[in-house]
Amino acid sequence: MTHPHAGEDNASSSASLMIDADELACLQDEAVDITRALIRIDTSNYGTGDPQTWGPGEAAAADLVEQLLTDVGLPTQRFSSAPGRDSVVTRIPGTDPNAGGLVVHGHLDVVPADADDWSHDPFGGEIHDGMIWGRGAVDMKDMVGMILAVARHLQRTGHRPRRDLVLAFFADEEAGGVYGARYLVAEHPDLFAGCTEAISEVGGYSITLPERETGADVRAYLLQTAEKGLAWGRLRAHGRAGHGSVPTEDSAIVRLARAIVAIDEHEFPLEAVASVRALYDGVTEITGTGWDPEDLQGFLPMLRGARQFVSGTLQDTANVTMLNAGYKGNVIPQIAEATIDCRFLPGHEESLLALLDELTGEHVEVIMDQVYPSVDAPREGPLIDAMAAAIRAEDPGAHLLPYCLSAGTDNKSLTQLDIAGYGFAPLQLPADLDFAPLFHGVDERVPVDAVRFGARVLARLLRGQ
Ligand SMILES: [Zn+2]
Repeated sequence: MTHPHAGEDNASSSASLMIDADELACLQDEAVDITRALIRIDTSNYGTGDPQTWGPGEAAAADLVEQLLTDVGLPTQRFSSAPGRDSVVTRIPGTDPNAGGLVVHGHLDVVPADADDWSHDPFGGEIHDGMIWGRGAVDMKDMVGMILAVARHLQRTGHRPRRDLVLAFFADEEAGGVYGARYLVAEHPDLFAGCTEAISEVGGYSITLPERETGADVRAYLLQTAEKGLAWGRLRAHGRAGHGSVPTEDSAIVRLARAIVAIDEHEFPLEAVASVRALYDGVTEITGTGWDPEDLQGFLPMLRGARQFVSGTLQDTANVTMLNAGYKGNVIPQIAEATIDCRFLPGHEESLLALLDELTGEHVEVIMDQVYPSVDAPREGPLIDAMAAAIRAEDPGAHLLPYCLSAGTDNKSLTQLDIAGYGFAPLQLPADLDFAPLFHGVDERVPVDAVRFGARVLARLLRGQ
């Protein structure tokens, strides 16, 4: 993919990135073209363990990734955790072997899309109204396109970063990364040896705020420094089995029901953890509008397109999602089970699990099947300074603010290797775009110019690492 010239190149970008106009054009055009090409490969992840439903998508996307990297002389390694569940990794060696490496990662899969609901083909990668449309446009084939475009740019210009850069393209993020990041971290941790930090989704996008003195629009880019953890498990109530005709005081089903009601009636307190406070304080500093610790939800409208992401980070949650008990109408079962989905703020894992034990009582066991840790990475340091500088070089006067994500990303897996994970997929967005609902939403799309902007910011950042 080469492009002889640029439509609307930013001359100052070209000069300060110290690359010529043709190279700058190529970088930006490739980010857009690769994003579109990836969207056209249907990598739907149905989240089942049944290989029949897996389809060829991730392997085809992995083929494209390998081709784009080997084209410019980057050797790749490919890993199949199961047939068709392919991930690709490459390492660009830095000039300083003592510097900790930086992982830059993206996932190749997407959640499914029903074309009937969409205005344009979800797997068409079409451009309409200045937007790239399709499943994965923001989650996260845009960032994968940018990473690949920047990798190719670094190779074309012969630029060697100081730190090692490990570029990883994972399968299966949308179902917890069992066949992708989790697998690689468990089975091939050497791939990430020496790495200290990681960059991926979901952060780096802009919200537009009114400046305190003038009321003029100013952009703040939200860097994801934290994410909630999740615990998926079961409540198992024990009782005495018996005949359905006999009075009973120790029915497992009733005990389970009481436990569920106790959890439902518990009010999880609203709390601003450190990353949320840092975000709220940052927005206050820019706008002059203060926030009330007694009314954390009242500040959400200030967060514009990010409010949906932030609304889930003000408390822990525990929701019962499935029930299973009994096998015959006239038999009182010995065991009754409910499935529970718990999400905890950074630092709350133990307290939430202890609370569940307390609420459910002595006859109900809490069994956690999968616990994914929360992430709470440092909010200050050279990497963050470099991100802010890269943003400001392309958007003078803009701010970089930390925030906590309510959902999970593959950074959870890398946390197991003590790698501090950030969400930084830079996008300069229009003020009126409600961004968060586009994730997994109908008519997912991303502005073409935002992807071009992101490629420039990421190139600056990675050139300086
Ligand atoms: Zn994602």
